Amino acid sequence: MLTKTTFFQPKRLPPVSCPNPASITVPEFRDTFIQTLETLYGKPLSEASNREKYEALAVLTRRFISQNLIETRKRQNSEDTKQVFYFSIEFLLGRLLENNLVSLGLRDTCAEALSQLGLELGVLIDQEEDAGLGNGGLGRLAACYLDSMAAMDLPGHGCGLRYRYGLFEQRIIDGNQYEYPDNWLKDRFYVWEYRRPEEKQLVCFGGNVRIQTNGKTRFIHENYERILAVPYDVPIVGYNNATVNTLRLWSAEIETANHTCGLYGSDCNNVIDYKHSVESLTDILYPDDTHLQGKMLRLKQQYFLVSASLQNIIQSFRLHHYDLSILPDKVAIHINDTHPALAVPELMRILMDDCGLGWDEAWTLTVKTLSYTNHTVLPEALEKWPVTMLEQLLPRIYMIIAEINERYCRELWNAFPGDWDRIHSMAIIADNQVHMAHLAIAGSHSVNGVASIHTEILRKTVMNKFYTYTPDKFSNVTNGVTHRRWLLTANPLLAGLITDAIGPEWIEYPCHLTELTAFKNDAGFLARLSDVKATNKLRLANYIKAKYNVVVDVSSIFDSHIKRIHAYKRQCLNVLHIMHLYNLLQEDPQADMPPRTFIFAGKAAPGYYKAKKTIKLINMLADKINNDKRINQRIKVLFLENYNVSHAELIVPASDVSEQISTASFEASGTGNMKFMINGAITLGTLDGANIEIQGAAGPDNIFMFGLTADEVLNYYRHGGYNPWDIYHSDARVRTILDNLINGFFPVGPDEFRTHYDAFLYHGDHYFLLKDFAAYVEAQRRLAGSYRQQDNWQKMCLMNIAHSGWFSSDRTFAEYAAEIWELDKPVPLWGTPI
Ligand SMILES: *Cc1c(COP(=O)(O)O)cnc(C)c1O
Repeated sequence: MLTKTTFFQPKRLPPVSCPNPASITVPEFRDTFIQTLETLYGKPLSEASNREKYEALAVLTRRFISQNLIETRKRQNSEDTKQVFYFSIEFLLGRLLENNLVSLGLRDTCAEALSQLGLELGVLIDQEEDAGLGNGGLGRLAACYLDSMAAMDLPGHGCGLRYRYGLFEQRIIDGNQYEYPDNWLKDRFYVWEYRRPEEKQLVCFGGNVRIQTNGKTRFIHENYERILAVPYDVPIVGYNNATVNTLRLWSAEIETANHTCGLYGSDCNNVIDYKHSVESLTDILYPDDTHLQGKMLRLKQQYFLVSASLQNIIQSFRLHHYDLSILPDKVAIHINDTHPALAVPELMRILMDDCGLGWDEAWTLTVKTLSYTNHTVLPEALEKWPVTMLEQLLPRIYMIIAEINERYCRELWNAFPGDWDRIHSMAIIADNQVHMAHLAIAGSHSVNGVASIHTEILRKTVMNKFYTYTPDKFSNVTNGVTHRRWLLTANPLLAGLITDAIGPEWIEYPCHLTELTAFKNDAGFLARLSDVKATNKLRLANYIKAKYNVVVDVSSIFDSHIKRIHAYKRQCLNVLHIMHLYNLLQEDPQADMPPRTFIFAGKAAPGYYKAKKTIKLINMLADKINNDKRINQRIKVLFLENYNVSHAELIVPASDVSEQISTASFEASGTGNMKFMINGAITLGTLDGANIEIQGAAGPDNIFMFGLTADEVLNYYRHGGYNPWDIYHSDARVRTILDNLINGFFPVGPDEFRTHYDAFLYHGDHYFLLKDFAAYVEAQRRLAGSYRQQDNWQKMCLMNIAHSGWFSSDRTFAEYAAEIWELDKPVPLWGTPI
């Protein structure tokens, strides 16, 4: 059996000297690449596989990074400025090679050097596995923030878990989703990590707590299970600067085998079993972003992340400072959603049990150090853990939580004497469950939502009682995405066009994109903008032809709906509309409508029955439409399998239309919407999440909005919903489509889509698809008409790009840095969307 050390130990670096990236010439790059490859594999270029060429190129690129990594660490320690640690259970990095080449200013040099060798950079880039250590938006957001922190030269680091298997690989067979393990590390080495066994931490589970009361009361945790946390550092390369921050990912290992043999009996076979059981702690990422309560292993992962990270942070803090009282002046710790909320009791434990502080001082420091972002109002996603599970797995931590709860409730009692209902609904422990959001709110000095409407909803509904109690804790920081990955790297043609027009300042200061508005009536520029889109569409069309053997019309509207498959994201509303168009064309094959290509991609949680049936529905619809000769050229439907960051980078730059049609009030922010905007796609959206701010920035003429408002939706819920049968009976289009779900329209059994049918008609259409249907059809009709006026359409695209700078994560990060973490380094603030 392979042990982890032989398995993951990076191969020794080749002894080649490496020139400064800024000054390396094409011939030097070419020769160094060949040397690197020969040193790594002992074979000539002509015999190397593409994978080996990729690895050689990545190792070469890493050599440009490592010196800056060392220097940055040294500098950040000696400058003694405040540092931020971003705790997140997910980091959805995607690939790193191309992004790193771009950050180092080497992409063109590299492409030219490779082409002199008859190689194509794109082919080698495609050899890299996506680091898929996240489910979707939340994990991708964390990755965008790392990029912005490094680009802005802020001392900030990510703390996460090194899952052996990332989010599952999705394959579509006969229209159904099947899940395969995402073995991203395989037996190869992952070039972008440094294993740092010397910085390992010990994390303790189970056991019991003995209370020693002679003299000062002490809590002694004993008989626990010890699991090693070994860090792997992924360098995060700043754009065009010398900063390289780190993402520290923890991996679970057993203590040395000898030691374990002694501890767990003489039978070393048991040790192997035991080793596997310990390492399984960081084996898998849970593939569901909503239903996670009750899984012991998940709770273990959460504690493992916060305990290893906090011990590590406090240790290095104490190396540099004697006095813990200045902890909040030197360290900010951010909790990304509630998954790392055990940071509250764990920091208390370390400060009290390990460092000897008293409760009050430890509490003040904890609250001042921690801040928390809420990401969702979905009730099923608000984490709660059974008291018994916490008591058993983390006895000392549970004691601390119980004490926090008691003091918090007492404080509430003083503020609202006699108001038992209020105190019960705000308590951290209630009904034998620990409410993680309540714990995070009580233990942080700052709580923020991720788009202005989301924060309003938090204030008004789910967190209203906390907001009225401590209004100053609450703020909004609208999400952002890194324009360097999503525009500069993913869409080099558009980036080049922009730089030609307004110079390169936008890359470091994306607010400069507004200068593009000067070109809104420049026919030549708009024509070039249109050419860029056409080229990107052709690239996607070629991919679709090669992989799915479907020919799509590149002059059709590329309308993309790509994100996790979830009822609230309403992929089914899109499906209803396509069925409607299909029915129209059946009745009148000459009907006047521009050709459209509908592109879907996204994964469903493996246990989410209805979402998986939605995937089946989309694929059945695609089969039916794509094979119907009568309408073939007017509509195409595609479901692209295994949606991940790399696929998003391919699809987004090629899209004309961005579907952001969640039921109003459900999508906290969305970030997909921003990626499309900066690539000049037109949003077709509801008044939900950041769509509202996108509308504000782009202007109402440059976006298609429709449907119920969040207030209307919430109001319906307060009054028990609405009656979908009224719409079924009054709108013949709806009646036909819904009947099609169960009447043999699709070549499947009558019950295949029964869940969908029943959800619409018998379960109150909880997500208001039928209610929004007419408005959606109308918005699609307006949009299609508008696409025909190509001059105006290109102008709309331009206005979106020009006003997308505000949605850069650089802006988001500046807000966090200045207002929540109070970092020393001044950052430019932007104010409201421009
Ligand atoms: C941006 C992104 C998401 C989030 O998309 P939303 O439309 O905001 O839900 C999910 N998955 C991947 C791979 C992404 O790149």
